[in-house]
Amino acid sequence: MAEIKLSEMRDLTRIERIGAHSHIRGLGLDSALEPRSSSEGMVGQTAARKAAGVIVKMVQEGKIAGRAVLLAGQPGTGKTAIAMGMAKSIGQKPFRNARRQRIVLLEMSKTEALMQAFRKAIGVRIKEETEVIEGEVVEVQIDRPAVAGAASKTGKLTLKTTEMETVYDLGAKMIEALGKDKVQSGDVIAIDKASGKITKLGRSFSRSRDYDAMGPQTKFVQCPDGELQKRKEVVHCVTLHEIDVINSRLDELTRGEMDSTKDTEELYGYMALGFLALFTGDTGEIRTEVREQIDTKVAEWREEGKAEIVPGVLFIDEVHMLDIECFSFLNRALENDMAPILVVATNRGITTIRGTNYKSPHGIPIDFLDRLLIISTQPYTPDDIRKILDIRCQEEDVEMSEDAKVLLTKIGEDTSLRYAINLITSATLACLKRKGKIVEMEDISRVYGLFYDVKRSTQYLMEYQSQYMF
Ligand code: ATP
Repeated sequence: MAEIKLSEMRDLTRIERIGAHSHIRGLGLDSALEPRSSSEGMVGQTAARKAAGVIVKMVQEGKIAGRAVLLAGQPGTGKTAIAMGMAKSIGQKPFRNARRQRIVLLEMSKTEALMQAFRKAIGVRIKEETEVIEGEVVEVQIDRPAVAGAASKTGKLTLKTTEMETVYDLGAKMIEALGKDKVQSGDVIAIDKASGKITKLGRSFSRSRDYDAMGPQTKFVQCPDGELQKRKEVVHCVTLHEIDVINSRLDELTRGEMDSTKDTEELYGYMALGFLALFTGDTGEIRTEVREQIDTKVAEWREEGKAEIVPGVLFIDEVHMLDIECFSFLNRALENDMAPILVVATNRGITTIRGTNYKSPHGIPIDFLDRLLIISTQPYTPDDIRKILDIRCQEEDVEMSEDAKVLLTKIGEDTSLRYAINLITSATLACLKRKGKIVEMEDISRVYGLFYDVKRSTQYLMEYQSQYMF
C-alpha cells in the first residue's frame, strides 16, 4: 500500500505515524469475514471491519480494480488502522517496498506526485520463459563412485539457468548413453567429467550430503520417469512505477547528450541511477511519453499472456486536503483499466472543497463522492478503549497495574484514544525515573499533568488568549 498525506497545496508529504499502528496485523476477521471481537490487533469497529473485509476479498479475487473507498469518521476512530489492516490482509508482493518508503517532500507537481503514488500501487506480474529442470540431483565424489550409493544425498531441487545446462547435459548424456527405455524414475547415474563416462549406479541410496557443499564437477542426475522435466515459467513482480523510473533514466540517456565513447559506462551509470532512484524515492518528474510507451508495452505483454496486472491499494489520508484539480485527476485515473483500489480517509464534516468556494460533505466534490463506497467508523466504547490500551501495552512491552489501566481508560473516554495511547510511553518513562517496574496510577497522573490533551490546551488558550501574538 502506498500511503500519502497532503498537508499543503503544493507539497506532498508522506507520513506514517511511526509505530502508531504497529500492533495492527490484519482486519481480524474469520474465514466467513465475520469480525472477531479482538484479533490481529483489531478491536471493535465491527461493521467497518466487515465492510473493509468484503473489499479485501473482492481485491483478492481481482473483482474490484479502479474502485474507491471512503473511510469517514471522527478523529481517532481507527480509519488509518483499518486501511492498514486492509493493506496487511492484501499483502501482495510488489507493494511491500512501496509501503515502507517514506518521502518527506517531493519536489514535483501535485498531479505528478499523485500519478507516482498511483503507479506504485499497480503491480505487474511478468512471466518469463526460463528453462528450469525439476529433478533430483545428487553430488558425490566422482573418483569414488563405489561409495556414492552410501554417501550421496538427494533432495527435490529446482535448478535455475546456471546449473541447468550442466544438469541438462548430464541428463541428455544419460539418455544417450543408456537408451531412453533404460532410464527410469529414481535412477542415479555418475558421469566422470574428465572422461565423460556414464555409469548407472542403481536406484536407491541414502541421503546424507548437503547439495550446496559439493563441487560442480561431481554431479549425478536422477531422472524422474526417464525424462528431464522442464518447467518454463519464472514470475517477477514489480510495480509500474519501478518500470517507469528505470525507463525514465534510460530515456534521459538516449536523448543524445552523451559522449559516444562512454556509452557503456554511462549506460551502466544510468541503470545504477535508475535502481538507486527506486530505493531513495528520488525520482523527479517522469515524462508522459515514457509512461505511454510503458503502458503500450505492458498492454502488449498482457495481450501475449506474458504479464498480468495486480491492482494494489493506494491510501490517501486526510483526503479533504486535496484540491479540485487533484480530485479531477483521481476521477480520470480511476477510469484506467489498470487502476489500483483507492482508499481515502477523512474526519471532516461539511467543508469547503479546496480550490473552490463550494462546500460539500467531507470537502469532496459530489461527482467524486458518488464513486465512493463509504465505510463509516464509530466512536469507541469504554470497553473497546480498554482493550486497545491493553494491546498497546503489550506491543510496547509495558507492564501496567490494573488501577493505572482503569485510570488511563477513563482518560481515553474523556479526551481521545490517541492521547491515552500516547500517555503509555511517557508514563513508562515516569515509572523508570522513579525506578519502578510496573506503571502505576501515579505515573499516569504525572504525565497527564505534564502533557495537555486538546481540550485542556484549548481551554488554556482561551483563558490566556490576550497574551499571545496575533
Ligand atoms: P484521524 O481522523 O485523526 O486521522 P483515525 O481515524 O485515522 O484518526 P487512527 O489513527 O487509526 O485513527 O487511530 C488512533 C490510534 O488507535 C492508532 O494508534 C490506531 O492504531 C489505534 N486504533 C484505532 N482503532 C483501532 C482498533 N479498532 N483496534 C485497535 N487499534 C485501533
